[in-house]
Amino acid sequence: MLKTRITDLFGIEHPVIQGGMQWVGYAELVSAVSNAGALGILTALTQPTPEDLAKEIDRTREMTDKPFGVNLTVLPTINPPPYEEYAQAIVGSGIKIVETAGRSPEPFMELFKEYDVKVIHKCTSVRHALKAQSVGVSAITIDGFECAGHPGEDDIPSLVLLPQAAEALDVPVAGCGGFSDAKSMVAALALGGEAIVMGTRFMATQEAGIHQNVKEKMTEADELSTNLMFRTMHNTARVFKNSISDQVVEIESTGSATFEDVKDLVAGQRGRVVFEEGDLEHGIWSAGISVARVKDVPTCKEMVERLVSEAEEIIDGRLQSVKA
Ligand code: NAD
Repeated sequence: MLKTRITDLFGIEHPVIQGGMQWVGYAELVSAVSNAGALGILTALTQPTPEDLAKEIDRTREMTDKPFGVNLTVLPTINPPPYEEYAQAIVGSGIKIVETAGRSPEPFMELFKEYDVKVIHKCTSVRHALKAQSVGVSAITIDGFECAGHPGEDDIPSLVLLPQAAEALDVPVAGCGGFSDAKSMVAALALGGEAIVMGTRFMATQEAGIHQNVKEKMTEADELSTNLMFRTMHNTARVFKNSISDQVVEIESTGSATFEDVKDLVAGQRGRVVFEEGDLEHGIWSAGISVARVKDVPTCKEMVERLVSEAEEIIDGRLQSVKA
């Protein structure tokens, strides 16, 4: 059994969190992750309205009695969502764990405190983590450059960013970006992390509600299978390498591209079709470098059990034997 301040904080069995994932974080996956003893996280903006989010929370509760949370991401979007109404739907549904991301959680902290919500803020730099700690979050997820989605603009990998954050902060820190298996999990614990947050690895599970073609494609990927786009717009996103993300990178390489030049290619609604219909070249879909380490499509339970038992074996076996 692996026990940390994060397992205590969220009342979970294993120091494993499924990060918020747009168009992936639905009730089936989230409940399967929580039932496996990790922390499942619904994604607020995947639901078209705050009312739909409340219904998705109810649906998740029908499938698990274990703790789960909701991700609220505030980043540039084509159609700005009513964030405040989503936050109200979260607290109104009795959710007690929220993952914030994209921007400082400060505007929401008063509401979350009033409703006794524990906030784990996901960010990509130590300075943003310190700021979030100062406004009262309970934990931090630090996103290394390896991560899927938005790794920020500093390009610091988890190997350096996680210990920097863990040493600078008083609240517990979860490592995100590059973590996918027992080896990387033990590394995260050694680096001062008190949990790992995985998105990409949880996409390739039986319960993830995305098309089988996507999951199979992930098992064939290697460490060169992602693209970084939006670099020129200071909104860097790591996504799976396909003909669409290649086009975006090429358009940006002219040096003078604006968001309008790529808007039709990158729309999240097109990426959604990839997940729903399995047409891998239809749009953009997020994946971290750890996709290289995805070799199979297990159930969440199988994957989490394997992760934890192999991590224990590494700690008790290989690491002990290295000690002279
Ligand atoms: P969307 O369709 O509104 O936008 C598609 C992409 O374009 C997103 O990456 C978005 O950040 C970017 N974008 C939108 N307007 C922009 C602008 N003016 N300048 C630069 N970039 C711009 O997004 P969606 O797919 O519906 O996702 C909803 C939200 O969730 C977005 O904020 C998105 O960034 C976020 N998201 C985060 C992750 C992650 O891993 N952190 C992954 C997917 C989506």
